[in-house]
Parts: sequence; C-alpha cells; structure tokens
Amino acid sequence: MLVATPSVSRLRALHCSACGTAYSAFDLQRVSACCAVPLVADYDTAGPLTPADGINTADASMWRYGALLPLLDDQYKVTLGEGFTPILPLPRLGALHGLNSLLLKDEGQNPTGSFKARGLSMAVSKALELGVAGCIIPTAGNAGVALAAYCARAGLPATVVMPRHTPDAFKEECYWYGADVELVDGLISDCGARVRQLNAAGALLDVSTLKEPYRLEGKKTMGYEIAEQLGWQLPDVLLYPAGGGTGLIGIWKAFREMQALGWLALDAKLPRMVAVQAENCCPLLETYAGRQPNCSHYQGRPTLANGLAVPHPLGEAMMLQVLRESQGTVVAISEEGMLAGMRELGQQEGLFVAPEGAAVWMAARQLLATGWLQHHEQILLLNTGSAQKYLANVQGRSRV
Ligand SMILES: *Cc1c(COP(=O)(O)O)cnc(C)c1O
Ligand SMILES: [Zn+2]
Repeated sequence: MLVATPSVSRLRALHCSACGTAYSAFDLQRVSACCAVPLVADYDTAGPLTPADGINTADASMWRYGALLPLLDDQYKVTLGEGFTPILPLPRLGALHGLNSLLLKDEGQNPTGSFKARGLSMAVSKALELGVAGCIIPTAGNAGVALAAYCARAGLPATVVMPRHTPDAFKEECYWYGADVELVDGLISDCGARVRQLNAAGALLDVSTLKEPYRLEGKKTMGYEIAEQLGWQLPDVLLYPAGGGTGLIGIWKAFREMQALGWLALDAKLPRMVAVQAENCCPLLETYAGRQPNCSHYQGRPTLANGLAVPHPLGEAMMLQVLRESQGTVVAISEEGMLAGMRELGQQEGLFVAPEGAAVWMAARQLLATGWLQHHEQILLLNTGSAQKYLANVQGRSRV
C-alpha cells in the first residue's frame, strides 16, 4: 500500500533568480516583479535532516522527497505516480562504443510518457493549494498533455495552446483528458503570445516554463533520485536535452541543495552538465558559442524533438550559469542524427526513446569523438520521453 506519511515541507521563501530579492512563498507568484525573471524556491537546509529522515522510502514516486518540495498541505497533492524512474545500465551499447559505464535514466516511464509529469504534478498541486481557478499553457506537446492529465485529476479546467504541426497523438491525448486545445501556426513562442491574449484578464494560472516557480521543483526531483539511486556517488557527466531548461536547472539545484543538507559532500565532484539541443533550434548553443548576445532574436525551426523547439527560453541565463559552474558544454544534433540514435537505442537496448533522448546519446558520441568525454568516465543519459506519441513523425524510418 502506498500511503505516504505526510512530510513537513521546509519551504521558506522564493527569490528572484537575477537579483536575489526575496518573495513570499505563501502567496501566488509568477515571475519576479523586480526583474521579470524566474523565481526560485528556497528551503531550510540548515536544520539537521538526514536522508533517513528526509526521504519517505515507502513512496516510490518523486513525492518521497516531500520535505524538500514546496507543497505545504498533502491534501492538495495531485499525483499519478510520477518519478522514481529506473536508471538502466546500457551494457551492449556501452561495449559497442568502448564505454566503461553508460547509464540511462528512463523518464519515458512517467505518467503521460514524459518527464513533464514531474513538473506539472507539482505545479498543479500548488495551483490547487493556492486556490487558482484553472491553468493555461503554451506547449510543444508533452507539457500540454501532462497539464491536461493533472488538471483532470485535480478537477481544474486546463487550456492547452500548441503548434498546429504537433503530431496528432499529443492533441488527441489532451482531448481525452477533457482539456480545451487551441492550435497556433508557429512555434511555442507564438503559442506563448496566444496564451497572453487568451489570459489577458489573468483568470488562469499561466504555467509556462519558469513563469511560476513550482514546475522547476518537480523537475529537480530527478537530481535527488540520481543521487539516491547511485548511492550518493554522482556520475562524471550528465547529458540532458534542453528546451526551456527546467531539467538542467532543476537537477543542478538539487545537487546544490543536497550539498547544503550534507547529503553530498561540499567538495563532492558534481557532474559536468551537457545541454543537448536540435540543430533546427539551438539558441543556447548560439549564445554559448558567442554568436549572439542572447536568444531574444533567435529564429528556430520545427524539429522531430519538439520538446527542444524553444527559440526563446526564459531561463537562458540560468542554464548558462549551470554550464559555467559545472564546466559543461552544449551540443546540437541533426534530425538524421536523432533517428540514428533512436535506431541504436532500440536495436541495442530495447528502448524506444523520444527523439530528445536519442539526441542525448548522439551528443555523447560526438563528445567522445572530440575527446571532451573519456571512455572511462561514468556517463548518465537523461531520456526525457517515450517515442510513442512521436510515431507519426518517425514511422517507416527504423531502417536506413
Ligand atoms: C519538454 C521536453 C524537453 C525539454 O525540457 P525542458 O525542461 O524544457 O528543457 C526534453 N524532452 C522532452 C521529451 C520534452 O517533452
Ligand atoms: Zn530581481
């Protein structure tokens, strides 16, 4: 029986990610009023808390870390069993490429088929706790499906705005959850503009990536799980497909929190974090490489990896900071490369990964070829979704 003993949240305040100004964590907040950038949640990490006291091991979901999560009252928890996904060794693929230790955390096993379930479970729980009337989201696909599912579960209305070119499977699943779906010609940024129009009166909570502080808290649980599942020894390198970047920022936030808690040593070697993008839409790579001052005028094109079709990520500065602090890097992968990665993971390991996850593997191959990655290093790939909903776009491409 999965009955979690309610854990008392150590949430204390929120702060502006640019200037540090503090905000109340007990009122409904969006972006910071001072700098119009994401707000970040802070916890009391000073009071003693051991993993044994801080982790509810009876709960095989991301909610096992309740003490370090922002929900104050368990009665508002909206869960479908998200998180605590397996970390799988990839011995055949690793041996084929001369790798000592190749691992994959399979987020495709989450409810609604992607790691978006973590963020939206958290955001919808907080929306319910804070008494909002409904939620609205611009999405490349997976976030909309997750919002629709968790809002249905919470009894809240959901409006999902997605590009018209999104594969039908994403739209269809939203309909089955009873969401209102709006289709827009363009990318997620155009959907964002439509959301602002539809929600001009502000009646609904806009749960766009990093425009409220709690999806990030759901995503950060991947970092806690990685540490716990690997016995508090982190891998040398972690590769993650970055669109809006909440996973990258959240996992790094978790590592820092665990250092503050003493769950990881203060001088523990943290992984080098690699952000993987699509060649068709790689604003972070362009800024990182110094070819543009920031992403605000970047022109992206659609990609098979629709989770990566985010031309203007609000969290760009936060992602760049993670790359700097972790001595990481950015890599972009072609559409053909993603298909090749899907074939290889499918045929060598029996994994049907989303193009985003395939891009992550191909990025590892690229970094091995340049020597940035060493064959003896422990490499953790984040596969963020299942390929099921992408079938219409990859059908017939299983052979070259
Ligand atoms: C949304 C999404 C991403 C990108 O996640 P961010 O947190 O926006 O960086 C990667 N992969 C999949 C499958 C996604 O749905
Ligand atoms: Zn500020």
